[in-house]
Amino acid sequence: MTMIQCISPVDGSVYAERQAMSFEEAAVAVDRARKAQKAWAKRPLEERVQLVMKGVARLNEMADEIVPELAWMMGRPIRYGGEFKGFNERSNYVASIAADALAPMVVEESGAFERRIEREAHGVVFVIAPWNYPYMTAINTIAPALMAGNTVVIKHASQTLLVGERMVRAFVEAGVPDDVFVNLFLDHDTTSALIAAGKFNFINFTGSVAGGRSIERAAAGTFTGLGLELGGKDPGYVMEDADLDAAVDTLMDGATYNSGQCCCGIERIYVHESLYDKFVEKSVAWVSNYKLGNPLDQETTLGPMANKRFAQVVREQVADAVSRGARALVDPKLFPADDGGAYLAPQVLVDVDHSMTFMTEETFGPAVGIMKVKGDEEAVALMNDSKYGLTASLWTQDTERAGRLGREIETGTVFMNRADYLDPALCWTGVKETGRGGSLSVLGFHNLTRPKSYHLKKVTQ
Ligand code: NAP
Repeated sequence: MTMIQCISPVDGSVYAERQAMSFEEAAVAVDRARKAQKAWAKRPLEERVQLVMKGVARLNEMADEIVPELAWMMGRPIRYGGEFKGFNERSNYVASIAADALAPMVVEESGAFERRIEREAHGVVFVIAPWNYPYMTAINTIAPALMAGNTVVIKHASQTLLVGERMVRAFVEAGVPDDVFVNLFLDHDTTSALIAAGKFNFINFTGSVAGGRSIERAAAGTFTGLGLELGGKDPGYVMEDADLDAAVDTLMDGATYNSGQCCCGIERIYVHESLYDKFVEKSVAWVSNYKLGNPLDQETTLGPMANKRFAQVVREQVADAVSRGARALVDPKLFPADDGGAYLAPQVLVDVDHSMTFMTEETFGPAVGIMKVKGDEEAVALMNDSKYGLTASLWTQDTERAGRLGREIETGTVFMNRADYLDPALCWTGVKETGRGGSLSVLGFHNLTRPKSYHLKKVTQ
């Protein structure tokens, strides 16, 4: 029997462990979720929405336990108070649109015909969640899936092993019936075997490109619907008319918050030559203000990366770029807590180019590269020179220009004068290797249900 462990980045200790379930045990649990789904879907929508929101409220009541638990499991400093702001914002928003999003699309209602498209729950939705924002990423699917009448099975990341268990506990304590929302501890092989056996009706996988590929392979031939929210290498582009201070503030926060471990974190920045020197200088000063240290300490603003192997990737990419001529501008002496392991100082690199993996592969750490550009054409070409496409952050005062450039950029979301934010009213989606499908918004509800057409002829004579 495999033991799944969460190794804490705080001190390298085993923070939590759980026995991985066998295929047979897991299959029984999924079958129970399938059985429970019919009765759950028959409940009125308002009741399902209310129960989900009670679960959300119950989780909020657990904040005092959740915040230090997150620090131990994935290193986020306790001063940030967990991820309740986004978690609640997304839950509230999907609750507010559920009735409209799931309402039938009526084509005809006449004496002769009723013709409409209704939305029907898929059945059992499987959520495979990542550790970087373990509550927020998971709720994007869990809340609308349950509201729409699906039951949900979650398998959470080993790094945040206790999150799925805790979410289910909160929802059950809030009154969500047994087997409607189920947590499983699974290793990769059992996860794939369950998918290959056609146990689920829809799968939302949020994680790495390699993980997404495995899930797609496991699902091949089962016709199970897939939402894949994968990696990114999101660019920022600072135009000559940008508000420089706002751009530095938002882009540097986007690059380094959560130790840079954000799917839509800023990983590369292109700056118009007229602002480049100032932008670089201010950016280096901005990140130099961080206090790297133990995430349980109130003063710490930058915690360790979630695992020392993630920090190792960043260190290797930076070292490779420097060996090819890049310059690292942040003085490591400002960050004595950098231990060569999970605790990693932030870094800003210049003299970078796209021959370096640092500018093309996902870094997923508190390090960002800045390049000088002459104008839009060069910036768009560089932004599109990527196998990923999640978000792009444009800095200008000209909304028309941002819209025009946005249409040329291969990305899921175009931001103007903001970055690193999920608006629950908009569809969260990616292009290229960032995956497919979309969550949140009305479209998120549509992806978690299937259309069913009703063609009712009333007059037969
Ligand atoms: P990961 O290693 O792919 O893991 C994600 C989840 O999938 C975990 O629960 C993991 O379980 C599971 N998993 C991975 N490979 C699997 C396999 N072959 N079979 C079954 N389960 C598998 O990704 P991560 O390192 O946790 O997350 C960081 C990545 O997620 C980054 O690339 C980031 O960009 C991406 N991300 C994307 C979005 C988005 O919206 N596009 C949002 C957040 C994160 P174990 O932990 O047990 O291995």
